[in-house]
Amino acid sequence: MYGKFQQHLAAELQSIDEAGLYKRERIITSPQRAAIKVAPGDDVLNFCANNYLGLSDSPRLQAAATRAMQEHGYGMSSVRFICGTQDLHKELEASIARYFHTDDAILYGSCFDANGGLFEALLTSEDAIISDALNHASIIDGVRLCKAVRYRYANANMDELEQCLQQAQAQRFRIIATDGVFSMDGNVAPMDKICELAEKYDALVMVDESHSAGVVGATGRGVAEQFDLYGRIDIFTGTLGKAFGGAMGGFTTGRKEIIDMLRQRSRPYLFSNSIAPGIVGASIEMFKMLEESTELHDRLVANVSRFRDKTVVPKGQARIRVQLSAGHAPEHIDRAVEAFIKVGRELKVID
Ligand SMILES: *Cc1c(COP(=O)(O)O)cnc(C)c1O
Repeated sequence: MYGKFQQHLAAELQSIDEAGLYKRERIITSPQRAAIKVAPGDDVLNFCANNYLGLSDSPRLQAAATRAMQEHGYGMSSVRFICGTQDLHKELEASIARYFHTDDAILYGSCFDANGGLFEALLTSEDAIISDALNHASIIDGVRLCKAVRYRYANANMDELEQCLQQAQAQRFRIIATDGVFSMDGNVAPMDKICELAEKYDALVMVDESHSAGVVGATGRGVAEQFDLYGRIDIFTGTLGKAFGGAMGGFTTGRKEIIDMLRQRSRPYLFSNSIAPGIVGASIEMFKMLEESTELHDRLVANVSRFRDKTVVPKGQARIRVQLSAGHAPEHIDRAVEAFIKVGRELKVID
């Protein structure tokens, strides 16, 4: 049997490669940070990690992870509700709820799992999910797993959202699902307008804060802070794999009964392993750091404005995708801008 299937796969792989879409992994031989080593030994600057607060190589988080591992062990070997919940897991869930000003939180192995296990656990074919067209793949998959009626609106298009809400009056409950910051263009969802429409048309609001938490808002607490929407967003999902340390893990946080129900019905929570104690301990320390001081967020904001001030952006449709970090030094940013200007002139897209 494999012979024919092998030929089929080889042909598919070749067409992916010919389309220029074949993904090749770059091997990094240093910790994740602004200045990294890539095999075979080149030193390069990194402007494409989600390491927004520069915490991926934080000595304080490494120490907290080591301490947690020594005191609480290496792995949990269980799902949460059988014998996979330590005091540390409860402490981290409380830290997340405190940070987002919500009632409670539930941990997952990733935000992909948080989104995958959200909708199906809460809604049925009587209900509606209204989703932004540029939502992350994990929201799309989570919606697919749920029997609710699906509506989709063009990215951040509030007229289309309103039309969807009007049509969805036919269903029992409605939920609007959106990324907080969309990864393609880095635009922030118009959460103030989304909440107004949700209230007008009696819908719940779910926002995925994976790219926005730690980043947007005056002190980096995400879209609820940015738009002053505390108490008006029902469900937040997020990742511990980006600004929040960059290791792994995800969460859903929000209203009490919603989190209670996820603990009863959410399949990735019920059937997938607990987060390892080292990551949980470091994540508790990470929220302590963010509560003690806004220094890292301030540095990120300063780096973003330094980069924006100095960049020459080509006219037209061109797009330069750069991810800045609190871990970048001013010299790193200046070097990157110089490189962009040099290449831009060589390609004659800027003068
Ligand atoms: C990165 C990302 C995820 C996935 O998070 P993981 O914890 O890596 O699974 C989910 N949603 C959005 C919007 C993301 O940007």
